Amino acid sequence: MSTITPKILPPTPSATNSPLLIGDLLESGVRMAGRNQIVYRDQCRHDYRHFRERVHQLAHTLTALGVNAGDVVAVLDWDSHRYLECFFAIPMIGAVLHTVNVRLSPEQILYTMEHAEDVFVLVHEDFVPLLEPLADKLPNIRGYLLCQEEAKDVSTSLPLVGEFEALLSEQPDYYNFPTFDENAVATLFYTTGTTGNPKGVFFTHRQLVLHTLGEASTFQAPGCELLNRDKVYMPITPMFHVHAWGVPYTATLMGATQVYPGRYEPEMLVKLLVSEKVDFSHCVPTLLNMVVSADAVASKQVDLSGWKVLVGGSALTQALASRAWSLGIDTRSAYGMSETCPLLTADILPRDVGKADFDTQLPWRCKAGLPVPLVKLQVVDVDGKPLPHDGKSVGEVRAQAPWLTQAYYKEEQRSEELWRDGWLHTGDVGSIDEHGFLTISDRIKDVIKTGGEWLSSLELESYISQCPGVAEVAVIGIADDKWGERPAALVVPSDLSNPPTAEDVQAFMEQFVKQGAINRWGIPSLIRVVDEIPKTSVGKLDKKRIRTEV
Ligand code: AMP
Repeated sequence: MSTITPKILPPTPSATNSPLLIGDLLESGVRMAGRNQIVYRDQCRHDYRHFRERVHQLAHTLTALGVNAGDVVAVLDWDSHRYLECFFAIPMIGAVLHTVNVRLSPEQILYTMEHAEDVFVLVHEDFVPLLEPLADKLPNIRGYLLCQEEAKDVSTSLPLVGEFEALLSEQPDYYNFPTFDENAVATLFYTTGTTGNPKGVFFTHRQLVLHTLGEASTFQAPGCELLNRDKVYMPITPMFHVHAWGVPYTATLMGATQVYPGRYEPEMLVKLLVSEKVDFSHCVPTLLNMVVSADAVASKQVDLSGWKVLVGGSALTQALASRAWSLGIDTRSAYGMSETCPLLTADILPRDVGKADFDTQLPWRCKAGLPVPLVKLQVVDVDGKPLPHDGKSVGEVRAQAPWLTQAYYKEEQRSEELWRDGWLHTGDVGSIDEHGFLTISDRIKDVIKTGGEWLSSLELESYISQCPGVAEVAVIGIADDKWGERPAALVVPSDLSNPPTAEDVQAFMEQFVKQGAINRWGIPSLIRVVDEIPKTSVGKLDKKRIRTEV
């Protein structure tokens, strides 16, 4: 922090300096939305006014059940209209929303719920069996509120306090929400770290409002144009993971139509994409791959043309972007992480590139993109010196922005490590080109160090993914006596009855050696054709498990 003393004037005593609170995002949405709707699967739909009423009823329900400001409230649900209501009602009463990652192991879920000090739980009926054996070990939980798809009796050992819809319907539809400090914690969730226990990250009202405004200005920018009031939005990134990239808040601010697909099942996703005429979604590459590989989509029985998909969480390969484009699907990349709320960069195409044909745009669409408003981003060498924006110099990516988690929850040492030198260290390596576009080349720990050179596993994956017959690929480094490490690849064939051989893939890679894109040692020496590649709880390649299986 600099030591200058700028002029700061005292406000008039009766002036209000409005805090940045999540509730104001909802009010903006109601004003903007007109008759736009919130849709849940093929089960229910209502307009924004009713959405607001339900948020007020949920706030009454929770306070009547004894939830107080400062309490941590856990939610275990699929992506639903209920979850969206929790995104608002829980922080708006001053409580903290803990979005539980339901795909973690039961031991890890127990760890996160204990560590977060949850005192109240909203649980979808599908997760009741998961919580039953854990409840004894969570003595501080004062009650469990059941969320059901339709009213029916359940027999469970969980101390239920009632059913979500039944309790909401008894409550008034207006709640006099308090105003409070914008630095109050609004949300908390756990990163799916590959080592040690999951780490808690938390975000304040102020951070979430600023993130929403940054995301909204990005999504509406020329060269990006992903979402506005007149579009239909459906997340395919779970709401438990980084608030579905914060987009439910952004879509609400804009008043866009929102479609929540519940549990992710390819058939339901495709059905909703078509029936609700979804314009915009976001997901990890694995999920996009799942949708474009669904029978009805691949055979062009259904038409998804015009659907825009923001891809992040892992690198978008040129092969997947091209395949999507052949079906009329318009993909863009974004980059961020749990610790960063998450948005750091997005593909806001320069004017001339935006006007060019798809082949010209393709490499741009697969870069992580331009830092969005209010984000400062650097790529630095091992001494922390910023590297030139030449598209070649590769180093660690570090960031500053007004919405980055200020610490890992109750983890002082790991927090200091994350924030050393006043920058949030992403643990990713990448480069920035002369246009300011970031390209991520790897996680620091996944970089393949071979014969004194660094190979990017993501770049190799991008090349191998273009090989005919390859549906999915993961590249890791394996120990090698002579070279230190050598790249190895797992490949899932698109046609299991006619898989490409290791030699086919290696021969295909020769062209990139000839073009000078990679060195000969970039061709994996070991290529295994497999039925499936291990994935993390949020659908990313699980390199830790892959290493143990190669
Ligand atoms: P998570 O915290 O689980 O959301 O994971 C964040 C990590 O995903 C980042 O640190 C990157 O390693 C990776 N990631 C996110 N977006 C991208 C992208 N566009 N390209 C490559 N890797 C990405």
